[in-house]
Amino acid sequence: MFGKNKIMKPEIHSGENLDVQEIFPTLQGEGLYVGHPSVFIRLGGCNLACDFCDTEFDSYQNFSLSEIISEVEKLAKNSDGKLIRKLIVITGGEPFRQPIERLCEELVKQNFLVQIETNGTLFRDLPKEVKIICSPKVSICTPNRGADASARSPLDSGEPNSKYHQIRPDLLSRINAFKFIISKNHKNYSDIAEVGQEKFHIPVYVQPMDEYDEVKNQANLELAQKLCEERGYFLSLQIHKILKIR
Ligand code: SF4
Repeated sequence: MFGKNKIMKPEIHSGENLDVQEIFPTLQGEGLYVGHPSVFIRLGGCNLACDFCDTEFDSYQNFSLSEIISEVEKLAKNSDGKLIRKLIVITGGEPFRQPIERLCEELVKQNFLVQIETNGTLFRDLPKEVKIICSPKVSICTPNRGADASARSPLDSGEPNSKYHQIRPDLLSRINAFKFIISKNHKNYSDIAEVGQEKFHIPVYVQPMDEYDEVKNQANLELAQKLCEERGYFLSLQIHKILKIR
């Protein structure tokens, strides 16, 4: 979308229907579960608009929970009907923008490993089994928190490293890993600030930004590697792009 998407408010409803961009089988390409056979549920809409964002999430359709679950069940099996994709990744856009509590409950009940990929500016009270990966975004992206606009993080204003959107304080203790995007050229993404990872002992993954430019991407990769080797972070490469899969 490259910052051109419509900024959308969080939705309040039962979660019986959700706006879905696409559901597809793949290998998880990034972060904590890299390489795991998975089913991705990409939900529509985002409450931010980041200028480097290369994901399409603004054209979606409304599906019932049972339609989503049955599609996931179908895609999680191989051609012999064997369940081989045990990881379900709920991403977007911003997945916390929609009420995904019931979707997560159903998937956990079926013993799927559920992973959420969020920008950290919204919160939903999800089953404790759900793994949450947070990728902080800098505040040049306008947030739309709707009714949650009053939520403030103690780590945000007044702190020297507050260039990132505040991570929801109620989310911090639930985050399993941070994934920071790094770019040598993009000054807002050229280093990693404390947003709660030290305070809450949360592992940090560093992922070079894909700027669709070989020279810039090489510089981003080298910077990411340097940060990992100097600070003990984990390197996250987008293996789905290396494999040329979705
Ligand atoms: S928060 Fe994520 S999905 Fe939303 S615009 Fe930014 S990079 Fe794209």
